[in-house]
Amino acid sequence: MKVCFFDIDGTLILSHGAGYQAFARAFRDLYGVTDLTRDVPFAGRSDRAIALDLMTLHGIEATEDTWHEFQEVYLATLPETLVACDGQVLPGVEALIAQLQTMDDVGLGLLTGNVIRGAEAKLTHFGLWHHFAFGGYGDIHPHRDDIARSAVLAASDHLKLARNDDSRLVVIGDTVHDITCARAIGAYAVAVPTGFTPMDELRAANPDLAVETLEDAQALVDWLAE
Ligand SMILES: [Mg+2]
Repeated sequence: MKVCFFDIDGTLILSHGAGYQAFARAFRDLYGVTDLTRDVPFAGRSDRAIALDLMTLHGIEATEDTWHEFQEVYLATLPETLVACDGQVLPGVEALIAQLQTMDDVGLGLLTGNVIRGAEAKLTHFGLWHHFAFGGYGDIHPHRDDIARSAVLAASDHLKLARNDDSRLVVIGDTVHDITCARAIGAYAVAVPTGFTPMDELRAANPDLAVETLEDAQALVDWLAE
C-alpha cells in the first residue's frame, strides 16, 4: 500500500487570506483585538500553535477554554471569509488527485495544521473534501511531526493496514515544515513552492522531489507506480 498525505494551504488551495481573516475576526469579536499582529507565522504551523501564540502576544490567557471558544468563532466565520477572499484550487491538483485515484494501491489523506472542521470548511468550499477519507489535523498537537504521526495512525486505521505493514508514505507540502514532518514518519517528501516559501528555501531542506506546481508531479506518480 502507498499513502499520499496532502497539506492544504499553499499545496491544494490558496484561500487568499480567508484563514487569517477568520482568525482576525475571532480575535476581534472575542477579545476586542482590532489589529491582529502579523508577527506570528501561519505557514506550515498548526491552528492550535498559531492561536495560542497569538493569545500570548495579545495578553490573552491561552487555556483549553480560550482555545475552544476561539475555534467556535473561527469556524463559524470561515465559510464567509472563504467566499469573500475568493481563493483558488492550485494548478494540477485536481488532475493529480484523479490520477492517483486510478491507482488501486494508493490511499489519499490530509496532513495539515488546520483543525479538522477548518480543513473540512476549506476543502468543501473548493469541492475537494470528499477525496480525503482520513488525515492528521491541528486540533490537538502543536507540532507538525506529531500531526504526521497521528496521520499515519489514521491511515492505518482507515485502510486497515497490518501493524507491520511496510506502506510507502508520501507527504506533499509547500513549507519546510512539511518536509521535516515527512522525515519524522519516514515518508517521501514532495515540495511545491505554490504557497509562500520560495523554491530555493524548499530545496535547501532536501525534499525527495521538488516541482514548480503539481502539474509537474509525473515523477511522483512514476515513483508510486514502481
Ligand atoms: Mg501549507
